[in-house]
Amino acid sequence: MARIAYVNGHYQDLRDASVNIEDRGYQFADGVYEVCEIRDGKIVDFARHMARLQRSLGELRIAMPMPLSALLIVLREVVRRNRVGYGIVYLQVTRGVARRDHGFPPAGVKPSLVVTARPLSFAKNQDTAAHGIKVITHPENRWPRVDIKSVALLPNVLAKQAAREQGAYEAWYVDADGYVTEGASSNAWIVTTEGRVVTRSAATGILAGITRAVLIEALAALQLRFEERPFTPQEAHDAAEAFVTASSQIVMPVVAIDGQPVGDGKPGKTTRRLREEFHRFSSFS
Ligand code: PMP
Repeated sequence: MARIAYVNGHYQDLRDASVNIEDRGYQFADGVYEVCEIRDGKIVDFARHMARLQRSLGELRIAMPMPLSALLIVLREVVRRNRVGYGIVYLQVTRGVARRDHGFPPAGVKPSLVVTARPLSFAKNQDTAAHGIKVITHPENRWPRVDIKSVALLPNVLAKQAAREQGAYEAWYVDADGYVTEGASSNAWIVTTEGRVVTRSAATGILAGITRAVLIEALAALQLRFEERPFTPQEAHDAAEAFVTASSQIVMPVVAIDGQPVGDGKPGKTTRRLREEFHRFSSFS
């Protein structure tokens, strides 16, 4: 089946879909993105993702490419045309096409919008979750504005590749004070031996994950103890459980950090429960 992308007003075969070489996303990584999970053909937590998109765009002074209601129609149409039941929809907005010059382009240059969607294997994801993933630690080397979901992901690409080359799936950044900030493409969590679920505050050093925000609400509803504070790799080693959150993985158990097992080296029971219950707390559009 041909995959279909939306590119600046047109639905195109993915193989032919392309953007102008002077698109500022291509030239300067001058753009932002969102990834939403698709379940039963529905977009998970659309409103929250769009609120974050608008915030990222606002911080960079890029205009919304179209009203939210129209964006929802485009996302749904890309999901439908690609027949995605379970998977992800990806959306990218850049500052548009203009002659290469670092400063902003003249007024009137319209932002570019690209949307793609692809199915994921539910069985494969469940299998990964059943075994858990390994992470490595990596020095924090990103710019301080990681709160903006920018397409400038070079440090993340390199950290992820370092993880792959060490037989791990994710890299956890560790800041200059020795605390874990987040993963290269996920937020980082631990469950202490006293059963407290811990993740860093979104005030500094991390992207305010949508999965993270929904999970914090779930923790309250499930009456689990929650602490918003930084933790060190040592504390994560000594924890009962660890996991990461991201829209494409929801709650994914971490069973080893830098080659050392977390807890008993198996996915923890709180982590498994949170994975199972998560979608009771999300919305579907
Ligand atoms: N941090 C980073 C650096 C990410 O790339 C992601 C996923 N895109 C997340 C956290 C998790 O965010 P979300 O739950 O909104 O997918």
